Amino acid sequence: MPTRYDLDRDALADLLAGEPRYRVEQVWDGLHRQLATPAEMTVLPKALRARLDAELPPALEPVAESTSDAGDTVKWLFALDGGARVETVLMHYRDRTTVCVSTQAGCAMGCGFGATGQAGFQRHRGTGEIVEQVARAARRARDGGRRLGNVVFMGMGEPLANYDRVWPAVRRIHDDLGLSARHLTLSTVGLVPGIRRLAGEDLPVNLAVSLHAGNDALRDGLVPINRRYPLTVLMAACADYLRAKGRRLSFEWALIDGTNDRPSDADDLAELARSLPLPAHVNLIPLNPTPAYPTRGTPRAGVLRFRRWLEDRGVNATVRRNRGTDIDAACGQLAARAAGDGGGSQPVRLSARGR
Ligand code: SAH
Repeated sequence: MPTRYDLDRDALADLLAGEPRYRVEQVWDGLHRQLATPAEMTVLPKALRARLDAELPPALEPVAESTSDAGDTVKWLFALDGGARVETVLMHYRDRTTVCVSTQAGCAMGCGFGATGQAGFQRHRGTGEIVEQVARAARRARDGGRRLGNVVFMGMGEPLANYDRVWPAVRRIHDDLGLSARHLTLSTVGLVPGIRRLAGEDLPVNLAVSLHAGNDALRDGLVPINRRYPLTVLMAACADYLRAKGRRLSFEWALIDGTNDRPSDADDLAELARSLPLPAHVNLIPLNPTPAYPTRGTPRAGVLRFRRWLEDRGVNATVRRNRGTDIDAACGQLAARAAGDGGGSQPVRLSARGR
């Protein structure tokens, strides 16, 4: 059965065959502009509301919700049809509100330092599941007097490994939820065919590449897909993306103590960043500890030193705040915790409440 945000307009029109034609726009508007459930669409007759509520169930069943940073970060754990779990994080900053969405349940890329990779791959998320994460976050933001403006595809999973579902979701978030393409960021481990395909699309979304290492020997170990798409091939695809879209790329770099935070790493990274037609912007994230990866993140002083090294080498870098570390908001961690790792903060359990 399709879920609430799976249907495109034509499929919705089919579902509403026999109703007056204007109902299609009313329901579409209800879902995407009012962010309402069918039961809440009071412009519809009661019987139709009830029918749609049954025939268009939500894709996401809230299982747990945690709030940290004095309410500035909200993290949901959702159950999907079939029992897989995924998470969504809403972050309020002073000047903007961003949601981080998951594109797969689990991840097949095998990065040893990511909790999601450690747990393996379960399944792709559908378009409706991805859009619904954004719609739910947008609604929560609105209820709190904020406007959701940005979406980062940096949650569980590799977006470009699930291209055929992720791209229609991007379109819907842009066309129907009304977010601007330059406020949508796809983060990839470096799947070159996906980057090339993205370069041919008509929306100039931002591309973030999770680099973490600036030479193949080190990157082969941290990010196994590098063996298939080594750095020269990846950089060529990045340069082509930049030329096609005219938008600066960013590189993600999770700083791992003693592993990729040495001066030679800054040299390698700066050289790659400057090799692009427009130098890449670097986002530095101190590694969040995960159960199966014993190495720690670079301590604060080392993070700031690494940023200075990059700046000395002509590369701009931002140290990303470790948002929601106290609620395990790093890649895949709430799911790991809820699966029974114990310790740390307990997410609040919600009663089954899907609608
Ligand atoms: N698969 C995509 C998106 C998901 S990961 C990608 O690789 O980009 C989102 C970002 O979090 C990536 O940059 C990823 O490398 C980083 N990340 C994963 N595990 C982390 C951890 N334990 N600490 C800090 N960053 C991590």
